[in-house]
Amino acid sequence: MICIRCGLCCQNLDVMIVNPGSIRPDGTVDPADPDSFIKKPMGKRCPHLAYLGDLAVCIIHDLPCYRGTPCDLFDQIGPDDGFCTFSGYFKTSNPANL
Ligand code: SF4
Repeated sequence: MICIRCGLCCQNLDVMIVNPGSIRPDGTVDPADPDSFIKKPMGKRCPHLAYLGDLAVCIIHDLPCYRGTPCDLFDQIGPDDGFCTFSGYFKTSNPANL
């Protein structure tokens, strides 16, 4: 799946994310820290989401702590070279996303 960088997943999905307060200077989190992940509820913008113009950017995407997270492993059914279809779903299911 090819992400179209709309950022709507990062606003509209319930997902466990890395706790911003748990990221160490080297970009890792302490695996023994029980608070290293927090719930990002549906409809709440992820604190790691930023925009460069209209382009959504996950500011922890290249950090070691991102590896293996639900966001890192997120995919959808379909061809690997197909563009994400969630954007259209979020826009039609919630016109506030238009
Ligand atoms: S951690 Fe990154 S990919 Fe995951 S919801 Fe937040 S901004 Fe999006």
